[in-house]
Amino acid sequence: MSFGKGLSRKPSQPKGRQLEDAALDEVRNLLGDEPRRRDLLIEHLHKIQDAFGCLEARHLRALADEMRLSQAEVYEVASFYHHFDIVREGDAKPAPLTIRVCDSVACALKGADALAAALEAGVDPAKVRIQKVPCIGRCAGAPAVQVGKRAIDNASEVSVRAALFEGTSDPVVPDYIKLDAYREAGGYKLLERVRAGELDAAAIADKALEAGLRGLGGAGFPTGTKWKIVHDLPAPKYLTINGDEGEPGTFKDRVHLERDPHRMLEGALIAAHAISAARIYLYMRDEYPAVLQILKTEIEALREAGIITTIDIELRRGAGAYICGEESAMIESIEGKRGLPRHRPPYIAQVGLFGRPTLNHNIETLFWIRDIVEKGSEWFASHGRRGHKGYRSFSVSGRVRAPGVKMAPAGITMNELLAEYCGGMEEGHVFKGYLPGGASGGILPASLADEPLDFGTLDKYGCFIGSHAIVVFSDQDDMRDVALNLMRFFKHESCGQCTPCRSGTEKMEHLLAAGDWDKTKITDLDEVMRSASICGLGQAASNPVTSVLKFFPEEFEK
Ligand code: SF4
Repeated sequence: MSFGKGLSRKPSQPKGRQLEDAALDEVRNLLGDEPRRRDLLIEHLHKIQDAFGCLEARHLRALADEMRLSQAEVYEVASFYHHFDIVREGDAKPAPLTIRVCDSVACALKGADALAAALEAGVDPAKVRIQKVPCIGRCAGAPAVQVGKRAIDNASEVSVRAALFEGTSDPVVPDYIKLDAYREAGGYKLLERVRAGELDAAAIADKALEAGLRGLGGAGFPTGTKWKIVHDLPAPKYLTINGDEGEPGTFKDRVHLERDPHRMLEGALIAAHAISAARIYLYMRDEYPAVLQILKTEIEALREAGIITTIDIELRRGAGAYICGEESAMIESIEGKRGLPRHRPPYIAQVGLFGRPTLNHNIETLFWIRDIVEKGSEWFASHGRRGHKGYRSFSVSGRVRAPGVKMAPAGITMNELLAEYCGGMEEGHVFKGYLPGGASGGILPASLADEPLDFGTLDKYGCFIGSHAIVVFSDQDDMRDVALNLMRFFKHESCGQCTPCRSGTEKMEHLLAAGDWDKTKITDLDEVMRSASICGLGQAASNPVTSVLKFFPEEFEK
């Protein structure tokens, strides 16, 4: 029988792509006796990528067979995530080492493009691959680079070449407070009290409400209210922890976990106990290999110490998709799928992970639970300024003298943050504007730097505080370039599920890159993206653009 050129097969030959015995053996050896559950697909893809440096088609076929999934499904998931390198039959494998050069906004200000070009020109492409990547969460050390899994802050051609020469590409794990030290300082005593029934869910939720604790991943929903909602819903329930802080400019969760991971883990175990969760799923971004190592070690230490009892913590590794910071997309990813945001309602509190009620928290939100209960709601609340409650971890980067995570009062102004916490502007730079809430929170001019920074205070300017990621710009920065950089990021990270965002970000990038901005077309497109996109990414992607049009008219007179 003939099917035309290249399409003939013998009658005895099975249809479809064939399994390779050797590839199947390799995949089975790698997976060992781990479950082949659907929700572990991304974990298993990581194992193959780590072992072979890429995902060859033969291994994807073998994995599909081993997990009883269709090849199309495995391919569709693998190809969604930027950190997986799929190699089709006949294609070359990627170079054994990848250098990731962050080109998001804070690093772009500090010469990331030139650094990437210089590195590209000086390496053997057969041995080293240079990739420009979105934010790797090291904005205070811009320009930041990852050589394999080793992060280099304030990177230069010299420092990257030195790392290459040393042949070191493992993560550098900083000194942090380990389990014994944390317990010696009173850690996990509060968890014991909660488990002993001295404090119930309602009491802790009330304390969180009195303290003014809110979701610090960006949404700002009152924490105590969330607990009460999920507490009253039927079992089984889950606690998910969102450690996928991919918003350009945000790095506070990384810093907290690299210093004091148990403070967050104790908060998580208390929250899980309070709502009677069946299990905790901790989703951590793949750009933080040192944090992943810390968490793996310390969760195991908690198991060995008998502190993790019936409610276990399952650590899940992201794979390079910003959209998985959106809670429903993260849940899809934990279930082993593409990170496509879900339509709401229903909300994940009611129908979340595996279709069950789910309490989802950001890392920093859980970080504060112990202090709020032990030191009191008033202690936390009293740190705010101008009637705002509590501490906030501001990630500050850009043109300031002392960038970093600043534990500052809610309601502080940008001018105060700059003067009191950041040492002022960099030498030779004049304050011009700032991102108050990362890439999506809009851009404000220096003339609006006396506004209190907190949830809801910037809405009147079309901006928001989000995850408290502040990037500061100076008179030497072109705000139209800033908006273009941010729009490129959103185009890269759009999940593609809906047209207003998928095509809108691409068209908006073209309009911005054209030089003279066509304000009528930009405004029309902004309207469509804002009103018709499914999730916050598409709805907020043009915030920086509208901010430039509104607040920086002088940029169009150059
Ligand atoms: Fe995906 Fe963008 Fe639509 Fe969100 S708005 S669902 S990121 S395409």
